[in-house]
Amino acid sequence: MNDGEHPSRFETLAVSHGEEPTPGEPQVGDVVSPIHLASTFALPGLDTEMSLEDIDPDEGEFVYSRLSNPTRHALEKRLAALEGGKHAFAFSSGTAAIASVVLSVVRPGDHIVAFDDLYAGTRRMFETLFASRLDVDVSFVDASQTENVADAVTDDTSMVWMETPTNPRMKMCDIAAIAEVADDAGAVFGVDNTFMSPYFQNPLDLGADVVAHSTTKYLNGHSDSVGGAVVMNDDELADELTFIQQIGLGDMLSPFDSYLLMRGIKTLPLRMRQHEANATVIAEYLEEHDLVETVFYPGLESHPQHDLASEQMHGYGGVLSFELAGELEDAKAFLEALEEFTLAVSLGGVESLIELPAGMTHEPVPKEEREALGITDTLVRVSVGIEHIDDLIDDLDRGFDVLAERLAVTA
Ligand SMILES: *Cc1c(COP(=O)(O)O)cnc(C)c1O
Repeated sequence: MNDGEHPSRFETLAVSHGEEPTPGEPQVGDVVSPIHLASTFALPGLDTEMSLEDIDPDEGEFVYSRLSNPTRHALEKRLAALEGGKHAFAFSSGTAAIASVVLSVVRPGDHIVAFDDLYAGTRRMFETLFASRLDVDVSFVDASQTENVADAVTDDTSMVWMETPTNPRMKMCDIAAIAEVADDAGAVFGVDNTFMSPYFQNPLDLGADVVAHSTTKYLNGHSDSVGGAVVMNDDELADELTFIQQIGLGDMLSPFDSYLLMRGIKTLPLRMRQHEANATVIAEYLEEHDLVETVFYPGLESHPQHDLASEQMHGYGGVLSFELAGELEDAKAFLEALEEFTLAVSLGGVESLIELPAGMTHEPVPKEEREALGITDTLVRVSVGIEHIDDLIDDLDRGFDVLAERLAVTA
């Protein structure tokens, strides 16, 4: 990723990598990449030898924006640099990114081993699209124990798909150990790195073959763009994914969203540090609180996988969850009393968001199944923003005042 001419420290790459002027463009000294809206580009002439395979965006050669676009190309160079990979692809959503990776690797009759605690949309995609309609066999296992992954692998396993930490219980899996299992099985190992962002975790360095992101979350960071990204080193895999993205599905990121994402990434390190600082204060405050039963945050020593978190991540991130005392209705009253934390799904933006999985995202799942996943009625999930920490704590105090009153009444 470092060509020797440019610095390779993360903060510097985040600000400027990929935004060098494109050869052939009129140079007016823009310090940010222009938004290239063109769908098609004038070709040099009919007599040139240029074939689609030879098009080199790094030389300022573009043909048609589904294939490659200068703004998206600049973003992809930056994404590759931040994850320490050779090839990056920007997608129209995290979902599109993950589906495209699976389609580029897996064939009907193949087997996938996946974490049983995946992002709910990914799990539904694996079950309803790949297993039910495309004849792919999928085993969901508790990957927090690596041997469960090893036990599930078969001769037909062509892909191992993990996510760490998971939502909302912040379970983790050992990326380096699972990379060995996947390697022994000859399977492609993909990791969804959305929750940590490339600033706090780099799966490729730990042996993963592919890393995916919902850039909707931390990478963009401002809750104003839906997108996805995939980064890898392997040239053959990259060729397959190029085919799936450009010829198979056409699910690339728009020029405007590419610009927004490049802009968001410039402050990724600053944002991640503040998300983590605020999340740490909140996790410790909650852990001390009488009306909180358990707190799940990888940065707390009480987290059962705190050592693994410290080993494979460079930080603990900005998402946490906790169980309140009381019943579902008490938890709803707690959330409704808050003024700073916005009641909403999603995560990773500068503003603090809060949600109640049992009453919102996981409401359709029957109670027993929910509880088997560790999602009790009073489990609250927080995406901690970068506001002033005292305002966030004051807001939680407001919620606890309401909760204390209710529990005194019902007690
Ligand atoms: C949000 C999310 C996705 C899906 O991404 P979209 O951009 O919403 O399509 C996938 N994985 C994780 C971990 C997510 O948080």
